Amino acid sequence: MSCPYCDSDDGCEHLLLVADTAWCAFEAGELVSAIEGFHEKLRAKYLGLDDDNFPADVERRLFKIILDLAASFADKEDNFDLNDRPGLSQAYRVFYCSTAQRVSEAYDAFVRQSIDYAERERFFCV
Ligand SMILES: [Zn+2]
Repeated sequence: MSCPYCDSDDGCEHLLLVADTAWCAFEAGELVSAIEGFHEKLRAKYLGLDDDNFPADVERRLFKIILDLAASFADKEDNFDLNDRPGLSQAYRVFYCSTAQRVSEAYDAFVRQSIDYAERERFFCV
């Protein structure tokens, strides 16, 4: 996968987020640390001190919310489906912004909007 703006294939200032959709994981990009902060806040708010992880269904819905937000901020998106090896399904969604400035604005917008967005979805039964 190479950047549509600068052709780099090893991360660059345009890379917003690389999401592994087979494993519901975030691999790279500027948004990764904002997503970690988002998870931290939700954990502090909804989970007991001993719980490290959300229930699997909540985890999946959170993953979808984060992808929706990333898609709404991104200027370009790529999809990769690497199913050439049996048993090793890999699928990625990769989000880019056209400038470093847009990436930084997307970061701030994600921090501002993610908690509200999660609460609007009302999937936490508390
Ligand atoms: Zn680039």
